[in-house]
Amino acid sequence: QSFHHQLHFILIPLMSPGHLIPMIDMAKLLAQHGIIVTIVTTPLNTIRFNSIIQRAVESGLSIHLLQLEFPSLEAGLPPGCENMDKLPSRNLIKNFYHAANLLQKPFEVLFDKLQPRPSCIISGKNLPWTVNTACKFKIPRIFFDGMGCFSFSCTHKLEVSKVHETVSKCESFVIPGLPHRIELTKAQLPENLNPGSEDLTEVRDKLRAADNTADGIVINTFEGLETEYVKEYKKWLDSCERGSVIYACLGSICGLTGWQLIELGLGLEASNHGFIWVIRGGEKSEELERWILQEGFEERTKERGLLVRGWAPQVLILSHPAIGGFLTHCGWNSTLEGVSAGVPLVTCPLFAEQFYNEKLVVQVLGIGVCAGVEVAVTWGLENKSGLVMKRDKVKEAIERVMDKGEEGEERRNKARELGEVARNAIEKVTTPLNAARLQKVLAHAARFRLQIQLAE
Ligand code: UDP
Repeated sequence: QSFHHQLHFILIPLMSPGHLIPMIDMAKLLAQHGIIVTIVTTPLNTIRFNSIIQRAVESGLSIHLLQLEFPSLEAGLPPGCENMDKLPSRNLIKNFYHAANLLQKPFEVLFDKLQPRPSCIISGKNLPWTVNTACKFKIPRIFFDGMGCFSFSCTHKLEVSKVHETVSKCESFVIPGLPHRIELTKAQLPENLNPGSEDLTEVRDKLRAADNTADGIVINTFEGLETEYVKEYKKWLDSCERGSVIYACLGSICGLTGWQLIELGLGLEASNHGFIWVIRGGEKSEELERWILQEGFEERTKERGLLVRGWAPQVLILSHPAIGGFLTHCGWNSTLEGVSAGVPLVTCPLFAEQFYNEKLVVQVLGIGVCAGVEVAVTWGLENKSGLVMKRDKVKEAIERVMDKGEEGEERRNKARELGEVARNAIEKVTTPLNAARLQKVLAHAARFRLQIQLAE
């Protein structure tokens, strides 16, 4: 941290006591670790929770308060409705979400004035605008889930099995696939699974989609309380067979257009392997996101595919034993990271020196298979000629890399050996590390360490 700028986290709780209070506790925890924290809330919430907020702000820790006027009038709410539990009628909930969304602009105006520059946003449920803001200012956004892992597991198992849709309102049913026999009736389910609240389905789907794009998640629990359910929550990659998942990420500056990314997605799907696919957020991904939604791509691949929107912990993912291949644009850092992890590569170079790197990986080192990109993106031909990404070639390359036959095994062995060589090389480094790169690594490390610490 001595040569990285001071970490500054922005905490934006949903305007509800159940979210605000634990997030203030989190602010104290973070500040005790030397992080500057700014809590963003509205004037009436500040007055209402004055004693708790003031205690935190005056604790001597580096905790600050930023107040944003709540646009009640603009959103058609009566005055004083700055908090969910203050709404005079459930019918006003849409207006409340709308008002909460209008906080984006005033917050972004203030963002540039915040010192030091914020490094991360931790925001509560139902604040989808914070995703866009984090993306715009190129910082991670972590989602604070006000519930525990047990309720997460219950909801998840119901969404997958849809068993609650097959029973009448008061008939009890067992939630399938949980470590315990949990019996409930449909009438007891939360609103998102309850057909009584259909008018809000669209709003809720949007809110949930935004929460799914988080760079990380903080859950207000401890492992000893819901041990099996915490495990359940964490196990995605852990439950996959060794070397069975392909990790696909095209670096930080992916210039591919929507339809080319769709081809990539279809190739991943057609390969029939487990996959993690990192999608950049922002305007470029709009066409892709529309397609994902319209085609139900995420839904139909959810048993074996995971879409990561925004920034993925690449090095961490690559080091997991479940990863059997890395579909990469052959940026030099990604190439080194793939090599160091000892995994074979599916190559999709896009521009710059990436086509050279592909030759090194495929021809010289023999640890990769080309997925068939033929024209550099910078030549601008990708829209016209269709030469860039083809699902069949992507599928074929993935299959060859993941193949358990002789050719695949030979490639894997070479990749493994090279990974060993990479680890030895790192151990022998005696010259000082490049400071800029080290800064970047520390920033990532701090982020993910923090997630782990908070989760613990
Ligand atoms: N990276 C990451 N998560 C992402 C995308 C990229 O951690 O979701 C990191 C990756 O590990 C690598 C760097 O960003 O260290 C990308 O550098 P590279 O030279 O591979 O490609 P560029 O982004 O410069 O084209």
